[in-house]
Amino acid sequence: MSQHDPNCIFCKIVQGAIPSRKVYEDDEIFVFNDINPWAPVHFLMVPKDHIPSLAHVGPEHAALLGKMLALAPKLAAQNGARPYPEGGHRVQINTGDDGGQEVHHLHLHVIGGPRPWRRG
Ligand code: 5GP
Ligand code: ZN
Repeated sequence: MSQHDPNCIFCKIVQGAIPSRKVYEDDEIFVFNDINPWAPVHFLMVPKDHIPSLAHVGPEHAALLGKMLALAPKLAAQNGARPYPEGGHRVQINTGDDGGQEVHHLHLHVIGGPRPWRRG
């Protein structure tokens, strides 16, 4: 069973209470386009469970995080990023205030497409 925070915007997106443009979903991961993209390809990968940040990740999350990382290049290529090595993409995890994290539900930014990109 998924664990949600009723005050969390990404939990609401996972549950469909806030609409989003879905890129991918499975039993433990939800992926959707960023509402304010920095680049031609910009989607966010989140665990369905509410994990506040990368600083809250422990060994029990290793398989989940590994699955998310391995999925990133595949979803990037399926959504308009040219494949590695000519194309490729960036995976970014902002963590805490000094890391620029604004939404406190763990998320991987996947950013790609022709440059230049705006910085986030
Ligand atoms: P952070 O700064 O926390 O790493 O990134 C949060 C990201 O979430 C930002 O890039 C922002 O545009 C995106 N975002 C915030 N609210 C929403 C929303 O309601 N829907 C979608 N699709 N993206 C959002
Ligand atoms: Zn959440």
